Amino acid sequence: NAPLTLRDVFVAGRAHGQKTFLVYEDERATFEAFGRATLALAADLIRGGVRPGDRVAVAMRNLPEWPVAFFAAILAGAVVTPLNAWWTGPELDHGFLDSGAGVAIVDEERWARIAERRAAYPALTRVLLARAPAAPGTESLSDIIGSVADWAGLPEGSLPEVAVGPEDVATLFYTSGTTGRSKGAIGTHRAGACGVMAHPFSAARAFLRRGEPVPVPDPAAPQRAALLSIPLFHVTGCFATLVPNLYRGGRLVMMRRWDLARALALIERERCTSAGGVPTIAFQLLDGMAAGTHDLSSLETISYGGAPAPAELVRRLRAAFPKAQPATGWGMTETSGTFTHHQGEDYVHRPDSCGPPLPVCETRAVDPEGRFLPPGEVGELWVKGPNVVAGYWNRPDADAEVMREGWLRTGDLARIDAEGFVTIVDRAKDMLIRGGENIYCGEVESVLYEHPAVVDAALVGIPHPTLGEEPGAVVAIARGAQTSEEELRAFVAARLASFKVPVRVLLHEEILPRNPNGKILKSELKKLF
Ligand code: ATP
Ligand code: MG
Repeated sequence: NAPLTLRDVFVAGRAHGQKTFLVYEDERATFEAFGRATLALAADLIRGGVRPGDRVAVAMRNLPEWPVAFFAAILAGAVVTPLNAWWTGPELDHGFLDSGAGVAIVDEERWARIAERRAAYPALTRVLLARAPAAPGTESLSDIIGSVADWAGLPEGSLPEVAVGPEDVATLFYTSGTTGRSKGAIGTHRAGACGVMAHPFSAARAFLRRGEPVPVPDPAAPQRAALLSIPLFHVTGCFATLVPNLYRGGRLVMMRRWDLARALALIERERCTSAGGVPTIAFQLLDGMAAGTHDLSSLETISYGGAPAPAELVRRLRAAFPKAQPATGWGMTETSGTFTHHQGEDYVHRPDSCGPPLPVCETRAVDPEGRFLPPGEVGELWVKGPNVVAGYWNRPDADAEVMREGWLRTGDLARIDAEGFVTIVDRAKDMLIRGGENIYCGEVESVLYEHPAVVDAALVGIPHPTLGEEPGAVVAIARGAQTSEEELRAFVAARLASFKVPVRVLLHEEILPRNPNGKILKSELKKLF
């Protein structure tokens, strides 16, 4: 009975009734209350003229109104277009002009960024402002659904009679823009609904691989609670966290933005069973555990992905949180979130890998001529599966570049072993070639992380007149730790071939600059050299 559309996910979620679904600061909404608010907004959007295929932009922080706006637009048959809350005015221009959104549901901060620019968005006819009275040219969302405390008292509502099928377009998520201008990825209902299967399927397979029976979930177990510390406007927040928790009746403990002290307090207060997001968050949870200020014993899973995670991370997590399962995965906006998944003992024994692909998904390592490579050889990772998007919005050039007869070229370099475990070695664009020798950033960064003083590390290319590029490293040093450029170079030299040893190591006191998805901004770091 797997859901085939995001509408099915909503219907399944409503059945969890009076259990708590959304927690934000001191506000709480049950599944039933969330359902009523969503149906009320969906009916209003349809009354206001939203038709199947229209784009509805959602531009706000992680607020309880975000999932309501998302699913209301889904029920209206619209294409939900989540816009990055970190975007500045000109970046928001790109999101609005590229998507042609006719309706926008925004919070005050986003409104402040677009109020003056809105006249330049010809398609935009309606703006709903969350958590604020109507400003000129907008309507207040609370005039339609009230505040969170009012949701339970809204009329029961009924599902709009808008037919949606698995192949209909449901979402337009924008890529992180790490390698160029952000692209809208066209996600179908089927691709989005795959989010509910990722974790249980891959967990079940891990048991089957070991020849052990797959544990059946205990219906009497306490409600699971996920700390949502990553943005909903990225696929991991939406498809890997919101969607499965709605479907399975898990509580979503929402953070407006990441903040370690706040996260620790929430894990303790809400007895969160899972936390994580991106590797940086997992590193900070280790600091939180070491500080010993909060009871984090409720955590059963610490999971992260979206950016390279050094093998050292899983070792440290294992030592600090013996009761929690470390889990990781690889995915991209174009795969609607998690595509490979890796957890527990399998992960501890293969700490460099990000796991095998989800069931019914396929991976290949491919050479520059498009030939599939045998196990163990590094090539570009190509992927195929029901969660892969249909292409890019308004970007036939990008489609032509990456779509290959049902396969998607990811731009990542990977090695796949005989059992299907994938190890990402680098982004093709980040890899360095020093006088003809390939240097994969991840390998050198992982060695730097093994040094006890290093809390963050990035390798970048420094232009060189004859060698092409040389490796340079930027590392962040733990507060109070002592080390030097010479010591770190010697540390790498003792572990890796000399051509991989950074010619320069810059020591930083701050954690390295990242985009909201946890990816180090290597283009910024290159400027330091
Ligand atoms: P853009 O495509 O706009 O340049 P982006 O690729 O950073 O930006 P996302 O779709 O958010 O946008 O990120 C996907 C990328 O994140 C992958 O292609 C890969 O490079 C990286 N990534 C994701 N998971 C992992 C992982 N487990 N290990 C290493 N890298 C990862
Ligand atoms: Mg990308």
